[in-house]
Amino acid sequence: MLSKIGILGGTFDPVHHGHLRLALELRQTLGLSQMRLTPCHRPVHRGQPQVSSAQRAEMIRLALMDCPELTLDERELRRDEPSYTFDTLRSLRDELGPDVSLLWALGTDAFAALDTWNRWQELLDYTHLVVIERPGFSLPQTGAVAELLQRHRAPVTALSELPGGAIVLPSLRLLDISATDIRRQVAIGESVQFLIPESVRRYILAEGLYR
Ligand code: ATP
Repeated sequence: MLSKIGILGGTFDPVHHGHLRLALELRQTLGLSQMRLTPCHRPVHRGQPQVSSAQRAEMIRLALMDCPELTLDERELRRDEPSYTFDTLRSLRDELGPDVSLLWALGTDAFAALDTWNRWQELLDYTHLVVIERPGFSLPQTGAVAELLQRHRAPVTALSELPGGAIVLPSLRLLDISATDIRRQVAIGESVQFLIPESVRRYILAEGLYR
């Protein structure tokens, strides 16, 4: 049985309870030995966030202060080039070796656009994909991503048997929270209390972010 390491990549602009609860549930329900949050430095499919990479990472650090089950992985921040998931996975494999099961977690919104990612057809050579149904977004029914899903869909037991190559759809409880909505609420002066950790909310206010 392989040890399993989960990764949740994203912009985390800012990190919110949707990300955090998802990461913790993945760690618990799939029996992961580690669960890492990996903020991207230069997003490929969206504009550069107004908030710096260092500030986004700092908000994750604050959020994880009381949560030893989750860790911050800053490898994408050390690469001053577009943050391709493929490069991140290759660097994780170099670090962890071939005998570890890697699980790249992503919401159905991100998964539906997988065929726009750099070297997307090679991702499963390095990792499993754990696709989480996000409120408001369903799985693709036709097209290249739907075909990939059909070919690689597997039960969760595959995650401990192989280092990568499966697409798994665990049923998890999700919170319908988005960073877009949080940025919008801060911009119009509304409170985002209870949507994000209190330490992150205070940091946003103190630094004057998202105004
Ligand atoms: P934005 O609204 O700015 O697009 P976001 O809230 O979607 O941000 P990201 O940092 O883009 O957050 O998301 C990182 C990853 O976490 C993606 O794979 C996304 O699908 C997933 N994710 C984000 N929010 C949730 C949520 N509430 N529940 C489950 N997954 C989520």
